[in-house]
Amino acid sequence: MREEEYIPTVLIVDDMAANIAILSDLLQNSYKIKIAKSGQRALEIAKSKEKPDLILLDIEMPQMSGYDVCNILKSSSETRNIPIIFVTAKNDTMDEEYGLNLGAIDYIKKPFHPAIIKIRVKNHMDLKLKSDKLEELSMIDSLTNIPNRRFFNENFEKKYREILRDKKSLALIMIDVDFFKLYNDNYGHWQGDECLRKVAQTLRKNLKRPTDTVSRYGGEEFVVLLKDIDRDGAKKVVQSLIDAVANLKIEHKYSTVAEFVTISAGLSIKESDEDISKEDFLKIADDELYRAKESGRNKFCAKS
Ligand code: GH3
Ligand code: MG
Ligand code: MG
Ligand code: MG
Repeated sequence: MREEEYIPTVLIVDDMAANIAILSDLLQNSYKIKIAKSGQRALEIAKSKEKPDLILLDIEMPQMSGYDVCNILKSSSETRNIPIIFVTAKNDTMDEEYGLNLGAIDYIKKPFHPAIIKIRVKNHMDLKLKSDKLEELSMIDSLTNIPNRRFFNENFEKKYREILRDKKSLALIMIDVDFFKLYNDNYGHWQGDECLRKVAQTLRKNLKRPTDTVSRYGGEEFVVLLKDIDRDGAKKVVQSLIDAVANLKIEHKYSTVAEFVTISAGLSIKESDEDISKEDFLKIADDELYRAKESGRNKFCAKS
């Protein structure tokens, strides 16, 4: 989550140092400024981990034009949401129409009025930050405050692409709370919700690496993704999650497997050289979860 004091970044792209200086003077009190003197450099910065929140883009540059930069950024899901404002000496209406059709949010003609450019940047930036916030909220489960199914779907897609590209392994853990219907029926729905919150937060806290993620898959089901991990490592993680939930000692008198709330899990591991579809990989975790339930609960199963 972004903090209150988040200072947004503007990337200024222009082949002329003097133009960069004017724009950065205007904006540096309100934003972090990054600069690129070529289209190629602009693409590098836009695709990096620390993406700019907004781009001011010159059109006429040697090698790669601003139009080309805009086209490339708008065609990739990774950079599509960064608003682009053309700032250019090309003041023909046809050019403006062309630029806006490429997906730029605005088109400012030189010479520009400094106060106007500041306001336009501010307006577009405010909208961008609001839309980021909504996007972030749409990925959070409101009951448990951990990522939701929508986040999982996107994250799973993304991680699967990454591991295929980087030839890494991936582990998926499907988790389900044991006898949760009986918990709800006997302790009430409100306490059931409270239990789900505790389980979710415990799963989250017990994942160690920054790339490990847990999402609420549905009702009382959770799903964990662990990238670049071997079979033994993944098994240790699942067991630690099962132990962590059991150690919460949330009373559950109606469970037949323990006196407190427990979870069962199914583990699926894709070795780096294994050829398996995303769907089959997920189904293995589901099948293994089913086996864990059938063979006693409060445990995990993994396909050997
Ligand atoms: P098993 O050990 O085989 O998993 O049995 P179970 O009772 O946990 O499984 P079942 O699928 O029969 O019941 C799941 C229950 O989870 C039923 C539903 O009322 C409850 N549930 C699903 N979502 C929520 C929720 O958001 N809040 C609460 N309180 N309960 C929920
Ligand atoms: Mg230029
Ligand atoms: Mg279930
Ligand atoms: Mg259950």
